[in-house]
Amino acid sequence: MSHPLHNVLVVEDETAIAETVLYALRSEGYAARHCLLGNDALARLRQQAYDLVVLDVGLPDMSGFEVCRSLRTFSEVPVIFLTARNDEFDRVLGLELGADDYMAKPFSPRELVARVRARLRRAGSSAAPESAGWQQLGRFAIDREGRRIRFGEQLLDLTRYEYALMAALLQRPGAILSRAQLMDRGWDSDADSADRTVDTHVKTLRAKLRAAGADPDPIRTHRGLGYALEA
Ligand code: CA
Repeated sequence: MSHPLHNVLVVEDETAIAETVLYALRSEGYAARHCLLGNDALARLRQQAYDLVVLDVGLPDMSGFEVCRSLRTFSEVPVIFLTARNDEFDRVLGLELGADDYMAKPFSPRELVARVRARLRRAGSSAAPESAGWQQLGRFAIDREGRRIRFGEQLLDLTRYEYALMAALLQRPGAILSRAQLMDRGWDSDADSADRTVDTHVKTLRAKLRAAGADPDPIRTHRGLGYALEA
């Protein structure tokens, strides 16, 4: 896994969790630092630029939400919250405060690292949207190395599955791909993967395309056969 060295600040008062997260990040090549308290984190974030902050909501001196609110007065650094509570209120408040993602404890460190990586990739791509590797296909453009897709001028914010699906469709515009083919191309068809999985991701993908101004819908449903892309 090669990527430029990114600085990640982990703000977490439970040392066992912090150590697991730091270990996972460092073994993927990130430079990770740790703070136990919200105030220390803010002081450090004022002194040094970080690329991403992993922020526990339940800190001893102030809540992660308060840390984020203060942070937003001087920095737009991406934030991923760690939360012990998985309720809707936290989620909404976190989004309002400009959090980029959140994970409910207990979580898998690998999953967290994957989210960190995805978030940093997005941050990098919005900073330099014209970097090499873009292939134009009609109104779409795909950067297969960077695993990102644009519609018009807009970079689509896709999940891993949505990206895989879209990349498969863009490989052969106009061709009808069955759900099985889309799954083979998109991701390992292990475990409980079913046709429904494809349909679900197509649905969310369509919503994102619509939001990006794709009208009419470029993904055609061919009943009983599969999907095709009108690029
Ligand atoms: Ca805590």
